[in-house]
Amino acid sequence: MSFNDDVQIDPGRVSDQRGGGGRGGLVAGGGVSVVGLILALIFGPQVLDQGGDSGSQGGGGAQSQQQPQADSARCTSGKAANSDDGCRLIATMESLDEYWKTETADNGIRFHRPEAVLFSGQTRSGCGQATSDTGPFYCPVDETAYVDTSFYKDFTRQFGGSSGPLAQMYIVAHEYGHHVQNLAGDLSESQHDPQGKSSGAVRTELQADCYAGLWAGHAARTKDPESGKTFIKPITQTQIKDALAAAASVGDDHIQETASGRINPDAWTHGSSAERQAWFMQGYRAQSMGACNTFRAADLDRPGS
Ligand SMILES: [Zn+2]
Repeated sequence: MSFNDDVQIDPGRVSDQRGGGGRGGLVAGGGVSVVGLILALIFGPQVLDQGGDSGSQGGGGAQSQQQPQADSARCTSGKAANSDDGCRLIATMESLDEYWKTETADNGIRFHRPEAVLFSGQTRSGCGQATSDTGPFYCPVDETAYVDTSFYKDFTRQFGGSSGPLAQMYIVAHEYGHHVQNLAGDLSESQHDPQGKSSGAVRTELQADCYAGLWAGHAARTKDPESGKTFIKPITQTQIKDALAAAASVGDDHIQETASGRINPDAWTHGSSAERQAWFMQGYRAQSMGACNTFRAADLDRPGS
């Protein structure tokens, strides 16, 4: 999946905290410590240390973070987005902004775009402090998606996921999907019923996958308002495979089997590999977000059931 070279992108769309180490001395004790609800791509909040760090809440969030650094300052075109991970994140966010602005309006949902932070090592979010171990996540408190670019490398090494461009974009689109859920008032389902094969958490995560697929299916028709050109070139079958491989690699059954050799659906928070792929494709083939109602699905293994 690649961007049209001459599409214009705005480096200021994403707060780039790479290289500066975020804010110095953020993580006392060095552990992952995120409080409050976060929606990560891989791990549910229950694996995070939720104790003893509430003092860091209300730290201001993305708005007060550093200005874009030289690294992302050159991210001004689709051409840069095709060759650089950080620029790709920015261009992906802009494509998502344009797509969801229209799609939410069509569905009677008031839209404002999420913030996004690109970091390396560690960062402070409105939901507390996080490191790259957390994986990419969305924090509803400051309505910001947090992405660590080094995660892409670990992603490939640990989970066998594809690091292809569309796989990276799937991650961003999934987190953006949580923002759409936040706007629609659907995020509480994840908190009320946080674990298990048919839990609210799994339904929330599979809906974010479906929303990622929905965007992917429409991305090649979404236009940059400044140039009037489409952001993205038509998607190839190989690129879809990349995204599906990424979705499969973050399935709960795959992660459990890799970690312990055992699969325990009662502990699932995100859904199985097959379910994550199925809901991505459900969105990819769909016309609108109504097709992603995982909360009403009788059988999560069969989208549309
Ligand atoms: Zn998620």
